[in-house]
Amino acid sequence: MHVVVMGAGVVGVTTAWQLLEDGHEVTVIDRQPEAACETSFANAGLVAVGHALAWANPRALRTLVRSLIKADQPLRFRFRADPAFWRFSLAFLRQCTDARARVNSRIKHRLCGYAQQVLQQVVTATGVEYDGMRGGILYLHRTPETLERGVANLWILAEAGQPMEVVDRERAAEIDPALGPTKDRIAGAIFCPTDESGDASKFSRALAAVCAGRGASFRYRTTIKGVDVASDRVERVLTDRGEVRGDCYVLSLGSYSPLIEGLAERIPVYPVKGYSLTVPIDGANNPPTKGGIDEDNLCAYVRMGDRLRATSTAEFAGYDTSHRPADFAHILRSLRDLLPNAADYGRPQYWACLRPMTPQGTPIQGRGRYRNLYYNTGHGHMGWTMACGTAKITADLVAGRTPDLPLDGLTLR
Ligand SMILES: Cc1cc2nc3c(=O)[nH]c(=O)nc-3n(C[C@H](O)[C@H](O)[C@H](O)COP(=O)(O)OP(=O)(O)OC[C@H]3O[C@@H](n4cnc5c(N)ncnc54)[C@H](O)[C@@H]3O)c2cc1C
Repeated sequence: MHVVVMGAGVVGVTTAWQLLEDGHEVTVIDRQPEAACETSFANAGLVAVGHALAWANPRALRTLVRSLIKADQPLRFRFRADPAFWRFSLAFLRQCTDARARVNSRIKHRLCGYAQQVLQQVVTATGVEYDGMRGGILYLHRTPETLERGVANLWILAEAGQPMEVVDRERAAEIDPALGPTKDRIAGAIFCPTDESGDASKFSRALAAVCAGRGASFRYRTTIKGVDVASDRVERVLTDRGEVRGDCYVLSLGSYSPLIEGLAERIPVYPVKGYSLTVPIDGANNPPTKGGIDEDNLCAYVRMGDRLRATSTAEFAGYDTSHRPADFAHILRSLRDLLPNAADYGRPQYWACLRPMTPQGTPIQGRGRYRNLYYNTGHGHMGWTMACGTAKITADLVAGRTPDLPLDGLTLR
């Protein structure tokens, strides 16, 4: 079968790999000059199964109200005159109950755990290099109160079998000695020893090269305008460089998935902007040996080879990806406080991009009204963690196999 994959982010590339494994002919279309140039380019790199909580929960309402009152918050919620914004916000609010948060977190956690296993299989099978670091992630809390709340929040994942250890500041500094000099600034942490990290763009580009070597065709610098449909089938993809036909199609355009013209079906994905900072590490630095999240400041950090990456902020800015140095003040403050000598903070590279969020926080899988169109999109803040798993699910569906996980809560609804 000839499968056309729309999008060469981490989701599109991992899907291409799984489709090739099944012996399909694969064409991948992307507007950028290479794989992973947009949201998959400089994310935090955490494969954070131990953090697979739904963003929509009763506490999110408090955070939202605070963000309306105070500037420089990790959540920047502003009202917008955009119908898609209102649809997303209302649907998100409907998910903010204890019961919905519990269901969504369980689904997310199961998918993330599965995806991590598939990631490890892909790495073993291909040998791709991606500055991966195994050995756990530390979820750090500054005060006993926030640590207590963090433990209560993560309890739902502990119940689902997620390995985790609640540690005091001394033990946290033992787990990551880079925290030794500043351990007094935290009360403790939740350590998830099976979590890991790595550079999603390095991974995607290396995997794309493996796929190309196995015969996949990557049509870069090609912008998709829309699709032509006839009844319940997609007939062809329309691009600025002509049409592309296949037997079936996978939609993996991240935040841009709902903008594709020609589909008589609404895709509930909305962009939520995040900021990312990368700084070089040299021999004199004392970089972290584990990925971490400063939970009180919602700032994630990871060592990626000779670079330190840190990300933060969820901002409702439509499709705007612009950024100014002031947008990163919050991230730098958190990093300098916790890891003052981890990297050369004087040489920052700034970047911003859009998380493809669904109200539930779970990605969209399977088919909608078109028999030969498969959705693999809406991975939100955990697309790197989930990508290999949803790629395998998509390939299973294309092949007519039953996926390893039930699709409850993962299909268009
Ligand atoms: C600040 C930040 C930090 C994050 N940290 C983490 C983390 O630590 N762990 C984690 O698991 N996840 C993290 N994420 C989430 C993760 O990065 C995303 O979920 C993931 O990258 C989404 O991948 P994707 O392939 O769906 O989208 P993308 O990477 O955006 O890929 C979509 C592709 O479609 C292409 N495209 C779009 N429109 C068109 C068109 N019309 N024509 C042709 N091509 C088109 C784009 O060029 C792009 O290559 C983070 C996200 C952000 C913003």
